[in-house]
Amino acid sequence: VAGNNKLLKELNQATILELIRVNKAISKADIASITGLSPNATGMITLNLINDDFLYVSGIGESSGGRKPDLLSLKPNSYYSMGVDIDTDRIRFALIDITGQIIYRSRIAVNCVGNYKATFEIINSEIKKNYKDKLLGVGFAIAGQVDAKSETIISAPNLKWKNINILDVISIDVPVFLENESITSSIYENWSGICQGVQNFICINSKSGIGAGIFINGKIYKGASGSAGEVGHIIVDIGGPKCECGSNGCLETYSSSLRLAEKLNVGSINEVILLARSGNQFALDALKQSALYIGVVISGLVNTLNPEKIVLGKQFVKYADLIIDEIKDVVNNKALPMPASNVEIVVSEEGEQSSVLGAAILPLINIFSTNEKRAAVGI
Ligand SMILES: [Zn+2]
Repeated sequence: VAGNNKLLKELNQATILELIRVNKAISKADIASITGLSPNATGMITLNLINDDFLYVSGIGESSGGRKPDLLSLKPNSYYSMGVDIDTDRIRFALIDITGQIIYRSRIAVNCVGNYKATFEIINSEIKKNYKDKLLGVGFAIAGQVDAKSETIISAPNLKWKNINILDVISIDVPVFLENESITSSIYENWSGICQGVQNFICINSKSGIGAGIFINGKIYKGASGSAGEVGHIIVDIGGPKCECGSNGCLETYSSSLRLAEKLNVGSINEVILLARSGNQFALDALKQSALYIGVVISGLVNTLNPEKIVLGKQFVKYADLIIDEIKDVVNNKALPMPASNVEIVVSEEGEQSSVLGAAILPLINIFSTNEKRAAVGI
């Protein structure tokens, strides 16, 4: 460990920043007692972080005998991070500061399908327009398979994009980060949303397809080759209709927004929801029927992974009130009683914005996360 002073310093900094992030405001004495760092080391590290503008004194705490202690918090409007969420027909942007506070969001309607060069021209100009000096990085959320380590979009079927290295198409000199959009949604829920402090949860998102971001023991679960979470291709009917993936009877063939719109012969899921809300029984039945299949898949996840929470996100948020009782009924009746009684099925409060906000958190994780730094130091 002695030869790893720089890494150890980064680990101690990250440990303290993460503790302050989770606690919002905390005294140096509490930081020292929770982390096991000496009061001296804690004082040095926090002083450096104050000088570097990461921290500030946000208030005065309760005295435990002596002088009332200063409380330290992350400094608002000091460092920034940007998220970009690329969808088939629009690009979403969000700029946040290190406290997670949203500075601005925007949305640009554009057809991104098969057109990555034009898409990235728009992205480059939007980032330049909103550039901040202390921009820690730009995070991207993509509906598809990505290799986060090499910043490569392996395959985004709905965008018809393949093997695109973000570094080749981005013209701004900042660190870039890339992740699947269901994973960025789950990161958002864990940092700022309804899964703060929750160790085991699954976010199930409906967009053009259906995907999931999975947290196990407080960490993102990606599987052996990074494709974990493709719950839309869990087969719910072995004799069912043909799916985009080549198989048949996948959850998506019964419950995706695209298939529901097709079934009702309308242009989009929004129209299906509108019909259902205005009393069209056929539309309402189609949504409720789709919920049974979602419930079956959730039952399987509950039996396999025993999560504390299942979060319905993205387009599900628009009509979750119409189907959540059906989903809960299926889970209560079909999943094993013990895990079923320990899971809460909830609706994201952010709706379609969760993945762009999660993308904006990606560059911050690099600074706050202790996992990789621990591995580097070997503890
Ligand atoms: Zn499929």
